[in-house]
Amino acid sequence: MPQCAGCGVDVERLILGLCSDCYRRRHGVANPPTSLEAQICRYCGSIRVSGKWVKVGSFREAVETLVYSSLSRLRPSYPLERVMVRTLRYDTKPDWTTRITVELVGVYKDVGVIDYAGITVKLKPSICPTCKTRLSGEYDVLVQIRGSGVNEEEIFEVLSTAGLAERTIDVIKDKDGVNVYFTDMGAASRLAKALRRRYRISIGRVEHEHVGLTRKGKKRSRKTLTIRILGR
Ligand SMILES: [Zn+2]
Ligand SMILES: [Zn+2]
Repeated sequence: MPQCAGCGVDVERLILGLCSDCYRRRHGVANPPTSLEAQICRYCGSIRVSGKWVKVGSFREAVETLVYSSLSRLRPSYPLERVMVRTLRYDTKPDWTTRITVELVGVYKDVGVIDYAGITVKLKPSICPTCKTRLSGEYDVLVQIRGSGVNEEEIFEVLSTAGLAERTIDVIKDKDGVNVYFTDMGAASRLAKALRRRYRISIGRVEHEHVGLTRKGKKRSRKTLTIRILGR
């Protein structure tokens, strides 16, 4: 029987002159990423995987969908013929950030090589295009940001540092300034506070407008708040 060049054990089949244990230690079965990231829609729970939004029901399902789909394209180390994820173990409970360990099996002829890899899975709250369309007809608060030199990029940055990105339905620039659409007034107040930390601003009165009924038959009002940027 051939002998492993690493540890001297006799085995039926060598991989690059090594037994499967020595091969795994030296080469690993693949080079999986140490972290994976995906957007998840906070309204319907869809997750964005390879450019497509896929419905999932829980953090656990989101993590598994992302891991199995991302690792299905993993390239095996030479000269293994293929590599796949056999099991997935949770090192922390499934959440926005989850640590997992995957068991990978690489195959070379009739030999299986088992390896483990730790991966941090990060889910980022977002809005999928379907929910965005649905919600944009249903926005309840419009914040009009006015003033010279108001630019969309800066507003995006303010929204994201204030932790408001996922509560924003849309940001649209027009000739008068930048319009930000939210579903709730709380988000609009937080935006006002965040803008105040950066600029000199003046905040106008909240204008109410009745726009029919809610699904529960209550009268629905849409609020518009105008914030003027006076300077930095
Ligand atoms: Zn060996
Ligand atoms: Zn959605």
